[in-house]
Amino acid sequence: MGEPSREERRSQEAIARRLSEAGFALPGSLVERTARCGKPNCRCKAEPPRLHGPYHQWTRKIDGKTATVNLTDEQAERYRPWLAEAQRLRALLHELEVLTLRVAGRGESWPRNSG
Ligand SMILES: [Zn+2]
Repeated sequence: MGEPSREERRSQEAIARRLSEAGFALPGSLVERTARCGKPNCRCKAEPPRLHGPYHQWTRKIDGKTATVNLTDEQAERYRPWLAEAQRLRALLHELEVLTLRVAGRGESWPRNSG
């Protein structure tokens, strides 16, 4: 049955402590993009091409659809730590779920799940 060992309980407590330090957590991810423009003799058409940008694009899922927002350099720098924080929290939650699956799955006959 799903009884956690002392070691597993310690792991759970360690994860919970790190979760309790949560800061602002912005969902989605930041990608840097370069682009070509429409001007015929632009540097972005040269050989080798020198593309425009990089531009910062923040993408996230809203109701299952990907929403993209262009950010200025300043916005990208301001929100980068909040995006990183959300990623850290997702990783911690994943760690907690893997641990819990191990505890709950011990002695149970349901299929193994690596998480
Ligand atoms: Zn161009």
